[in-house]
This record gives sequence, structure tokens and C-alpha cells, in this order.
Amino acid sequence: MRRKIITRRTAIREGLHQYYTGRPCKHGHLSPRTTKSCDCTECIKTRYARTKKSLILEHGKDGAQDILRKAWRKGSAKHREIVGKEAYAEYMREYMRQYRLTPTGEAITAKAIERYYAKKKNNADD
Ligand SMILES: [Zn+2]
Repeated sequence: MRRKIITRRTAIREGLHQYYTGRPCKHGHLSPRTTKSCDCTECIKTRYARTKKSLILEHGKDGAQDILRKAWRKGSAKHREIVGKEAYAEYMREYMRQYRLTPTGEAITAKAIERYYAKKKNNADD
């Protein structure tokens, strides 16, 4: 599939999280990059998978899950420390993607969107 080329500047202006240069990253991936860190999304995925794999190797599958879950409970700072900044962002994106599909997640997302627009409207009224 051919992706549309979009510059970082345009992506940021349009509020997108990713942009696409059409040029491979230094590891040869033709993947979008994040507007925040200019990181190749495929590289981020690889890094996250590697972190998880090494955790699994060291602690077993359940142990790795446990560590990630515990770090998650301790707060995002701890979690970020263990899995790394990009991997954490990737984990959160995936988590939110899954979460939004649940009924609770759907309701909360809908509420958040409502709040967002209500706030926007208030600001506009000022
Ligand atoms: Zn890459």
C-alpha cells in the first residue's frame, strides 16, 4: 500500500501524531514517523517487542506481564523507566486502542469528547 507523503510540519498543523516522508528510516522501514520524536513507528514497535522479549526471557511470560502490570500500577513514570519512553508511548496507544473498544472505555471516551467540546465552547464564549 502506498502512503500519502505528509511533512512533519503539515502533520503537526493538522493535529496528527504521525507523518510520512516516503524515505526509509536508517533500519530500512518505510513507516510513518511520530511528530513528537521523529521516530520511525516500526522501530518503536521493534524496540517495544525487544524490551518485552527480554523481560519474558528473564522472568517468563507471566513474570513479564506482572512486571509491566506492576509498573503500570506504580504510575506512568515507573512504567516509562522500565520499558523506555517510546515503548511506553506505544504501549499506551495500544492500550487505549483496546480500551476504547470496551463498553466502559466507549462511555468514557464519549464523555471526554463531550467535555472537550463543552470546554472549547466555553472558551469561545469568553
Ligand atoms: Zn525504522
